[in-house]
Amino acid sequence: MSERINTRVLVIGGGPGGYVAAIRAGQLGLDTTLVESDTLGGTCLIRGCIPSKAMIHVAGEFETMAKAASAGLNGITLASAPTLDMTKTVAWKEGIVGKLTGGVATLLKRAKVRVVQGWAEFSDAKTCTVVTKDGKSQTIAAEHVILANGSLPVALPHLPFGGAVISSTEALSLDTLPKRLVVVGAGYIGLELGIAFRKMGSDVTVVEALDHILPLYDAQLVEPVHKWLTKHGVTLHLGAKAKSLVEKKKDVALAVETKDGAVLEIPADKILVTVGRKPNTEGWGLENMAVDMAGRFVKVDDQCRTSMKNVWAIGDLVGEPMLAHKASAQGEMVAEIIAGHKRRFNPAAIAAVCFTEPEIVSAGLLPGEAPKNDVIVAQFPFAANGRALSMDAQEGFVRVLARADDHRILGIQAVGAHVSELSAEFAHALEMGATLEDIAGTIHVHPTLSEAFHESALKALGHAIHI
Ligand code: FAD
Ligand code: NAD
Repeated sequence: MSERINTRVLVIGGGPGGYVAAIRAGQLGLDTTLVESDTLGGTCLIRGCIPSKAMIHVAGEFETMAKAASAGLNGITLASAPTLDMTKTVAWKEGIVGKLTGGVATLLKRAKVRVVQGWAEFSDAKTCTVVTKDGKSQTIAAEHVILANGSLPVALPHLPFGGAVISSTEALSLDTLPKRLVVVGAGYIGLELGIAFRKMGSDVTVVEALDHILPLYDAQLVEPVHKWLTKHGVTLHLGAKAKSLVEKKKDVALAVETKDGAVLEIPADKILVTVGRKPNTEGWGLENMAVDMAGRFVKVDDQCRTSMKNVWAIGDLVGEPMLAHKASAQGEMVAEIIAGHKRRFNPAAIAAVCFTEPEIVSAGLLPGEAPKNDVIVAQFPFAANGRALSMDAQEGFVRVLARADDHRILGIQAVGAHVSELSAEFAHALEMGATLEDIAGTIHVHPTLSEAFHESALKALGHAIHI
């Protein structure tokens, strides 16, 4: 016999979309139930943002120590080269994940959210059955359903996951460092992790179908990353196709068709396939809910309503950008709309950061996305910024793009060490409708990287001080 729960709000998925929606709904006094089949935290906390940044951090520390041991580093020398125990690194990373996922459970409890662990399967738009780990079945009927089922890695048909062919999930939990890593796809994940593995000592080869890395961004913005890859011996095959896995006697290789039509076999210990993510739309009865689709995503309007009354969808399930902070912002908004608030999802910008070496941040329009004659574009190099030089990080720049007529800022990008921390100022400026004069008139702390943003605005106005 199935147990029955009647709830006002049912949230499916405990990722940054779902858990934030549930906490906010609970805070607003709505009777809320959240279903998650795995540990709370979703892709972001368990196998995405947090574990990847933890590994990137370790890789950076290892690289710094290795430099100090080999050539010396600004007066520091180490007597012997560092060693890396991957099992300890992964255990440390798991510790961080555990703290955060435990924290989510506490926050949900504090907000009086009922958490049901198990896989939800919908029989109609407002009813699902959850079979829990101990085999018990619960039927949940809701007035409002918030779908936050997230996304999954895309596999290549001729290179399915398994054995040496891994996704980001396995790459973040390896017990040994792959000596030779081949990365297929030079997007966010491929380059963030490819660079981290290179810093930890793997030989890294990147195979990218397009002619350039990080195709989301313009050539100027990705140039410092490209330079780092070349300088650090990462082999790049651009405009190349990953063909198939070649099983050798002792190991494996990836057959690759290069841009000029030659076929290469690249020996590998692991082949990391990072060619995008797809919304998680199968295996949970979405077809029984009568919601419209927008291509492979669930279709929503600017309040995250689906075509079915009182069924809402958020996060990776509803489209690009597939970013944790977008999922959370949508989740918070939907809970507030259900509670009667007037809200719309209409951000001026959703800033994105690529945690490569160096980091890239982009908010708003890129230069190629605005009519050339109507905008002013100005950039200020970190080579002229005291804080960047004092951190031995002179590579990169901040770039601002503003309307030529009223100087309203339309886009801001930066590439350089630690620029992820500038993302909030960029998003804030765009959200507040700042003009170049607003940024020029704001006193920025010295010495900080943010002064490069101030200077880029001054430069756009024709009177930069430090260049
Ligand atoms: P998810 O986090 O995917 O959560 C969905 C949850 O729903 C999962 O826990 C799943 O188990 C559960 N679920 C699905 N169906 C059911 C069902 N039927 N029953 C029960 N439970 C179900 N984004 C950033 O903004 N910054 C980053 O630095 C960043 N780094 C990333 C690094 C990697 C390696 C990866 C893979 C992703 C990264 N992302 C990053 C993307 C980010 O993780 C996602 O955008 C974000 O997690 C999406 O949140 P979500 O709530 O929509 O879905
Ligand atoms: P992506 O879309 O960023 O990059 C995929 C890359 O693979 C592209 O460059 C594409 O041209 C290439 N590609 C596609 N098919 C190919 C093929 N057959 N052979 C070779 N190359 C091929 O995808 P991703 O790196 O898997 O990341 C997925 C999503 O996760 C991102 O779009 C982003 O939304 C999110 N993410 C965000 C962050 C962050 O915010 N820092 C970090 C990681 C992931």
